[in-house]
Amino acid sequence: MRTDVVVVGLGAFGSAALWRLAARGVNVVGIERQAIGHPFGSSHGTTRLFRVACMEHPGLSEIARKSLALWTELGERTGETYVRQTGSLNVGGPTSRPVKGAQAAGAATTDLTHEEVRAKYPQYNLEPGDVAVWDPEAGICYAERTVKAQVAEAERLGATVYPHTMVTSIEGTTVRTPTIDIEADQVVVCGGAWLRNLVPGLPLTPRRTPMFWFQAMDPDSEAFQLANFPSFIWEFADGRGLWGHGSDEGFGVKIGLDGGRHVGGFDADDLDRYIHPLDDIAELAAAVGRAFPGLDPAPVKAIPCMVTDSPDGQFLAGRYDDRLLIAGGDSGHGFKHCAGIGELLAQATTKEAPYTDASFVDPQRF
Ligand SMILES: Cc1cc2nc3c(=O)[nH]c(=O)nc-3n(C[C@H](O)[C@H](O)[C@H](O)COP(=O)(O)OP(=O)(O)OC[C@H]3O[C@@H](n4cnc5c(N)ncnc54)[C@H](O)[C@@H]3O)c2cc1C
Repeated sequence: MRTDVVVVGLGAFGSAALWRLAARGVNVVGIERQAIGHPFGSSHGTTRLFRVACMEHPGLSEIARKSLALWTELGERTGETYVRQTGSLNVGGPTSRPVKGAQAAGAATTDLTHEEVRAKYPQYNLEPGDVAVWDPEAGICYAERTVKAQVAEAERLGATVYPHTMVTSIEGTTVRTPTIDIEADQVVVCGGAWLRNLVPGLPLTPRRTPMFWFQAMDPDSEAFQLANFPSFIWEFADGRGLWGHGSDEGFGVKIGLDGGRHVGGFDADDLDRYIHPLDDIAELAAAVGRAFPGLDPAPVKAIPCMVTDSPDGQFLAGRYDDRLLIAGGDSGHGFKHCAGIGELLAQATTKEAPYTDASFVDPQRF
């Protein structure tokens, strides 16, 4: 088989690249090892934080906004919602990373004093000196729903999709699978935690990061509903922290731990998919109980997941060599940017000028 472009891996980044290439009329084929929207990689678990005042790099604001614009346009066609903008709080000491990072992001944020946060968000058991930065453009986005919609839209626009098909090797511009070999002018590889297996030599490390949901102690309480409990990133004085957001799914608030006992460095096929009460839950439950006294610290739901870390905590997206483009190394903050990154990959593939300067995610920096 021959085509212009093959996209390998249809998770967050790959499904977005496929969609944006198909939107340009490029002959594109997408190959995914699992079903579309599956729970075995990094893009499942219903929701993700959507932030525009991104502490990870000021240049990310424009990429998040591009995702929002593309998803809004897609939602107008499909009737689905891909982002809910309920705002977010970046909480911590005045010099903490979430606070400083959000202030430096160049977005339209508002600083909140300790007293203002206490008055408006009594759910928080703030540490002395904690303040917050309010990001009004933030909220939540939807993981599997978006991946499935991006693939469906790409197919509607003419892309060919092979789910349940594993790429066994990429040799030059030949993508091999057990059932079909495809010749392409260019190959876009978005293998998530498997990206380093598909493109050997990339400095990427998969890390196990299970997801947990918690419910309010008082079943009648509305304090942790999405409208009252926006998404947050909170850094504690000891450098660790929590991230999470209110729920519109009915099974609780999603909260995760930053800097906990997360195991890294395994092959993604060997991910430990069991949840361990001591190693996985004890530290997180203690932190949740301390931070949000209105929540029951025993999680009601848990599922395994993994992020893929890069050496500088920034993902890798763009041209890798003259035939290969890649996106991956999400370092735990990539979902909100995936449509914007898909657009950049499509622009790089078709040699258009990029809509924003994304040199800070250039894969060639390593
Ligand atoms: C617990 C957790 C919380 C997170 N929170 C946030 C958040 O709040 N906000 C945010 O923006 N981001 C967040 N992220 C990060 C975000 O989810 C990731 O950046 C994003 O999902 C990564 O997408 P990906 O396309 O790189 O990987 P994936 O979605 O895993 O896609 C890779 C795909 O490649 C396929 N594949 C691999 N090998 C092959 C092969 N040989 N042949 C064919 N297909 C193959 C896989 O099956 C998979 O479908 C979080 C991640 C985790 C784990």
